[in-house]
Amino acid sequence: MPCACQDLDVANELMRLLTESGVKVLEGTTVDEFSYVPPPGADDEYIKMKLNDGSTMETDLFFAATGRFPVGKNEETGLASAGVDIADRGMINIDKKTLITSTKNVYAAGDVIGAPALASTSMEQAQRAVTSMFCEGESDSALDSSHDDPLSIGVWTIPEMGYYGLTKEQAEKDGYTVVEGSVKFDACLRGRVFAPDGLLKLVVDANEGTVLGVHIIGKEAAEMVHYGMALVKGETKIFEILSTVYTAVTFHELFKEAAFDANSKLDFGVEWQEIFNVLQSECGIDFSEEFLREKFESIDEDGSGELDEQEMRALFSSMGRPVSKRVISNIMRLSDEDGNGTIDFGEFSAIFDKISCPPIE
Ligand SMILES: Cc1cc2nc3c(=O)[nH]c(=O)nc-3n(C[C@H](O)[C@H](O)[C@H](O)COP(=O)(O)OP(=O)(O)OC[C@H]3O[C@@H](n4cnc5c(N)ncnc54)[C@H](O)[C@@H]3O)c2cc1C
Repeated sequence: MPCACQDLDVANELMRLLTESGVKVLEGTTVDEFSYVPPPGADDEYIKMKLNDGSTMETDLFFAATGRFPVGKNEETGLASAGVDIADRGMINIDKKTLITSTKNVYAAGDVIGAPALASTSMEQAQRAVTSMFCEGESDSALDSSHDDPLSIGVWTIPEMGYYGLTKEQAEKDGYTVVEGSVKFDACLRGRVFAPDGLLKLVVDANEGTVLGVHIIGKEAAEMVHYGMALVKGETKIFEILSTVYTAVTFHELFKEAAFDANSKLDFGVEWQEIFNVLQSECGIDFSEEFLREKFESIDEDGSGELDEQEMRALFSSMGRPVSKRVISNIMRLSDEDGNGTIDFGEFSAIFDKISCPPIE
């Protein structure tokens, strides 16, 4: 799984909230020229900036966030003379698993090895480096993953953001068919009363219902993302979230609301889960199209291409898989899109496409 990326809807929501609070965002803008001008009749100076689009802007304060860069190449670090391999941008090159450098007995962790350069990752890297110092050559489960495995991200904007796992675009690139379950913070009572600004989104595998990514902007987003991370890491399905009782009145209720939204976009949502459980409880039938069509046609005596409730029941019995009247009624209700009270072969075989019985050898 690649590193978590910012979701576009979350980014747009931040822009909307910033703009609403009076922040003017100028994208793709650089300052070509600064000059200091005294305001008329005042002793202080203020700053006049000429922007790259030719316009001017005046301000009493200019603050630049220029980023950080490693200084491994600087001679006074002594790294080069110790034979430590330094990358072009000044980072120390390390083995990703053990964090050892190119020089025996020299390990590196933290900002000096480059991105993501965070407090949390630096601490984990330090632990890993010490573990590898004392477990050289031994297998240690602490070293199984790579130090740059995916992270949960917290961004300290107002309101804050948190995300983990795949965006819709990344998931689609990885071959998933995706639905998104998205809710505004005011979809839960705590949000509605105390912090209505923000949204929570689940990126969900449309075939399995598994949560692939969680993206949040709003109050406590950087806290809540850890629950989202557990959902993604545990390959949790939204059906499990829907059957979970969340404490009222908490922001975590948003996970259930988002799961409801995703469920409403699935062809075979939570309403189908009981039916699938019943139908696949005893595997052993190869539900090939040929097999299903043969059975379907043998029951569809008048050749109408549609089965009613009674015929559906007979069909399941003929496959050695009798099901209750209640399950049949649910299948009819959920499959019968045109509401004419019957099921055609396409609707019928789609149900069995979803049943994961291993094929008969
Ligand atoms: C403004 C700002 C905001 C940040 N916000 C966040 C955030 O919200 N979340 C997050 O996860 N991360 C954040 N970070 C990043 C985080 O602080 C760093 O990634 C983390 O501190 C790196 O840990 P480190 O041990 O590699 O380096 P440092 O924490 O920089 O520790 C290096 C230590 O080495 C000491 N040192 C340097 N040279 C020598 C020497 N020659 N001899 C002895 N000691 C020396 C330094 O004094 C320092 O104490 C932020 C950073 C900045 C600058």
